[in-house]
Amino acid sequence: MNGEKPAPAIHEPKAVHRAWSLYLLTVAGIPIYLHFTFLLLLGFIAMMQIRDKAYFGGLGFVICIFASVVLHELGHALVAKRFGIKTDDIVLYPIGGVARLRSMGEGFQEFWIAIAGPLVNVVIAAALGVGLRLSGRWVPLAVLTQDGQALPSAHFVENVMLVNVVLLVFNLIPAFPMDGGRVLRAILARQMPKARATRIAAKIGQGLAIVFMVVGLFYNPFLVFIGAFVFMAAGQEFAATRSAALMDGKTARDAMITHFDTLAHGDSLGRAAELLLATSQQDFPVLGAGEVLGVLSRKALIQGLASFGSEHYVAEVMERNFPRMRPGDDLRRVYEVIHEVDGLPVLVFDDGERLVGYINHDNLVEYLLIAQSEHKNGHH
Ligand code: ZN
Repeated sequence: MNGEKPAPAIHEPKAVHRAWSLYLLTVAGIPIYLHFTFLLLLGFIAMMQIRDKAYFGGLGFVICIFASVVLHELGHALVAKRFGIKTDDIVLYPIGGVARLRSMGEGFQEFWIAIAGPLVNVVIAAALGVGLRLSGRWVPLAVLTQDGQALPSAHFVENVMLVNVVLLVFNLIPAFPMDGGRVLRAILARQMPKARATRIAAKIGQGLAIVFMVVGLFYNPFLVFIGAFVFMAAGQEFAATRSAALMDGKTARDAMITHFDTLAHGDSLGRAAELLLATSQQDFPVLGAGEVLGVLSRKALIQGLASFGSEHYVAEVMERNFPRMRPGDDLRRVYEVIHEVDGLPVLVFDDGERLVGYINHDNLVEYLLIAQSEHKNGHH
């Protein structure tokens, strides 16, 4: 608790149901989900087991890999928590986990958040290695790889250890989107602006991705797949950092739409449809008794027309639970909220609770495009 006056009712979205994902459990307040593609992998392994008449060693092995990945992601999330950064959730995909952090931290915090995941794998591998040594069941790596066919069952603990070493090495590749890329950026960013550090880390990531794809063409198609994924993710990371840099120091006031039409809660959907066609507006604040009661999005309007017809009132289909912000709020926060509420605009109110503007996804994208071309212009 702190001494600030209660924040204006900024709409915090409820815990959303994640599409294509299975909820598993919550650790330290962070929900963990299994993406359905992971279930496909489990099913595939189970099938192979039945076909080869092996026992469930393979499935147990997958669960151990899976636990290692969860612990790795929790490593990131818990260090982020120490810096006061919230993690929305952790989703497990067949190629690894993703912890969705609200931010990567200021300055060198990113280094500690990024390195925490691989360090968890170091700890797991070291603990298993020491355990094996002490129990005298240590098997040299050469022997392990010889009977590679029997990988999961024969030397279970060694193989779990090996997987953690692979996770460690893979994640420490110094390229986005791997943890190593973030570590590299954090180190570079001590010497140069963050945007430039990001560009270098992203370029290394994309260069490496091309090498993966070329090598994969000759040796292993799976590498082509990883390469394509790395290439896209590196590009996305660069775009996201650039957007964040363009929004730096900007507020909701800078990007909001200030000329707009409104509807009355007693207006019909037919009237709203007329307005939608006559203007370029897609979202309409709905007023009643001098107050904003809700907002009618284009989607809700079309759905309302389809299910109720044009005679029904706007008040019946409008969204009453819309996000509210202040003109002086950080634009990056507006960006986050717009992504969380998916499809709804953010309405901007002044201190007198008077509606002064609104921001939707499209107009924020337009704002970024304009800011980007102005930025380019200023440099050439
Ligand atoms: Zn990681």
